[in-house]
Amino acid sequence: MGLMTGKRGIIFGVANELSIAWGVAKQLHAAGATLAFTYLNEALEKRVRPLAESVDAEMILPCDLSKDEDIDAVYAEVEKQWGKIDFVVHAVAFANREDLKNPFSQTSRAGFSLAMDISAYTLVAVTRGALPLLNEGGSVLTMTYLGAQRAVPNYNVMGVAKAALEASVRYLAAEVGSQGIRVNAISAGPIKTLASSAVGKFKEKLHIMDERAPLHRTVTQEEVGKSALYMLSDLASGVTGEVHFVDAGFNFVAG
Ligand code: NAD
Repeated sequence: MGLMTGKRGIIFGVANELSIAWGVAKQLHAAGATLAFTYLNEALEKRVRPLAESVDAEMILPCDLSKDEDIDAVYAEVEKQWGKIDFVVHAVAFANREDLKNPFSQTSRAGFSLAMDISAYTLVAVTRGALPLLNEGGSVLTMTYLGAQRAVPNYNVMGVAKAALEASVRYLAAEVGSQGIRVNAISAGPIKTLASSAVGKFKEKLHIMDERAPLHRTVTQEEVGKSALYMLSDLASGVTGEVHFVDAGFNFVAG
């Protein structure tokens, strides 16, 4: 019996084998969970499908989270096939590349809205869709970063979106706690992925971790996955509305 045996859930946010969501999915699978995956578009489907199949995914569904109809279609299909679920992983973010490089004051209205929509609002939409399907004891988990709480160079509009995401975690947790459902975030240290490569001077953030982070190294997708397993399992049954740091380098000073 694994920690997640008999539990079923949806993973939003695998793009490739470097994705944090994939690190989470592997841990959940190893612990006995049954998984459904979504992919953003056809190009990514080619990457996601073989990964999902390798962990015996029961559903692999398209979902552009900027479209309410896509979110509705995912939950309709999951309800049809499974009826109920136990967890949702939201590991999704997006901002225009120039907004992760130019001075923050140059962020356009459209770029600001886009980052907030995809990186923060989608947690609200994904949680709302999941609520009718989540069993008591169910859990929602999202991914955030230190840039929500401090001014990390170049993180810019994404830091503002992550602050909104972290506040959303608290409001959602407060709302759904009475239904026995938990909502949390993991704040991971910098990891090389498709999304993080868009952040200006990202390599410097990786190197700074060696110097300043408590563990004097970066963390891995596997380590985030292990914390996610804890947060999504019954081991964290009393934990909600929290931001759980997986060495985000809290000694890291903005400048
Ligand atoms: P990634 O590129 O592997 O994952 C980002 C995912 O977001 C991709 O799967 C992409 O398809 C998806 N996405 C973007 N726009 C979407 C849309 N409109 N609809 C549906 N999906 C969409 O990169 P990652 O680093 O694994 O990012 C996962 C999460 O972890 C993000 O929230 C990111 O901010 C967060 N995070 C990353 C780091 C890091 O250093 N890599 C650190 C802390 C937090």
